[in-house]
Amino acid sequence: MKRRILALVIMCFATSSLYPEGNLETFKSPKILPIVVIGSGPAGLTAAQYAVRLGIPTTLYTGPLPGGLLTQTAHIENYSGVKKLSGEALIDTMIEQAKEAGVTIEDESVVSVDLDQWPFTIALESGEQYRVLSLIVATGATPKKLGVPGEETYWGSGVSSCAICDAPFFKGKDVFVVGGGDSAVEEALQLSPHVKIVTILVRSHRMRAAHSMQQKLKGYPNIINPVQYNKRITQVLGNEDDVTSLEIQNLLTDEKEAVPADGLFLAIGHHPNTDLFQDQLSLADSGHIITEPRTQATSVPGVFAAGDVEDDRYRQAVVAAGRGCAAAIDAVSWLRGEKGLTDDALKQLIAQEF
Ligand code: NDP
Repeated sequence: MKRRILALVIMCFATSSLYPEGNLETFKSPKILPIVVIGSGPAGLTAAQYAVRLGIPTTLYTGPLPGGLLTQTAHIENYSGVKKLSGEALIDTMIEQAKEAGVTIEDESVVSVDLDQWPFTIALESGEQYRVLSLIVATGATPKKLGVPGEETYWGSGVSSCAICDAPFFKGKDVFVVGGGDSAVEEALQLSPHVKIVTILVRSHRMRAAHSMQQKLKGYPNIINPVQYNKRITQVLGNEDDVTSLEIQNLLTDEKEAVPADGLFLAIGHHPNTDLFQDQLSLADSGHIITEPRTQATSVPGVFAAGDVEDDRYRQAVVAAGRGCAAAIDAVSWLRGEKGLTDDALKQLIAQEF
């Protein structure tokens, strides 16, 4: 009987080319989930909410950091339509909204995916496995850290990796930016209108940032120029509440000194969280998932990506949310269009018993 239901579901919406004939046994177990979202930042939560509103039951797995990086941001002021509140509060509202829309949110991590065969297979940390008709990857990115003492202690209260989010909280303060790429220049430019002085520390003898970007630094009187080269931060020091100084090593002389500082902004790159997808999705040299122009489609039909895991340019919560919305629309269109998923087939799929 169960097999008959499955066969019916498959006949209703599957294109035969994607279902190996006579291999229906493979669909008996594990259970099929229509749409799965991996990741619970603004991209994932928005994608899940939209997918459900578009009529497809959606399960979201939060991953190891429920709410994503935004939960580590002290205050958000630039998320359009929302006045100043903590990153955690903004995420809590998104979670509430997604749940109210009908998203199933599981505080679980996906530990492996198999995208070779459709429906895709995912495995959870708990050991459970599911088959998935469409997957939205919103696993985000992890800012690279220095790995020096004090950095974790003052993360979010003096140490940050997002000037555009946190600069207004350093009004009239002395801040440092570490890094020599375009991001470091951008961080300094974002900080300049708010803070007293910005000092950029570069570990080597040169900046990687584009010449045109470096030239921009000259127009800002409170950005110390020239940049300080051959300087490495060895410790972040503070009074338990706030950062008060940085221990900086001169790599030419090896001398270390404690320099008064109110804030430290890291701009030493991000790691997109794409370990699960190595050799399965096309990735850029930077590790970001490559999406097709003007869609959130990845190199595997039925798999979509949204947010910092695919966006190496804007890295803003509001952009990630927008991309999540686009990924959901793409996923639902793919299921209903390419795969011919009808409401009847969906109902039977949901009613499946194993
Ligand atoms: P990059 O990889 O370009 O630069 C990272 C910088 O951080 C380098 O100067 C590197 O030093 C330094 N660094 C790395 N690890 C450490 C460490 N442990 N301690 C101290 N310094 C360290 O990253 P970005 O984020 O700046 O840029 C990423 C990409 O995004 C680039 O392609 C960039 O062009 C692009 N981008 C473009 C922008 C724009 O066009 N407006 C804005 C922002 C980014 P070293 O050189 O010694 O390795």
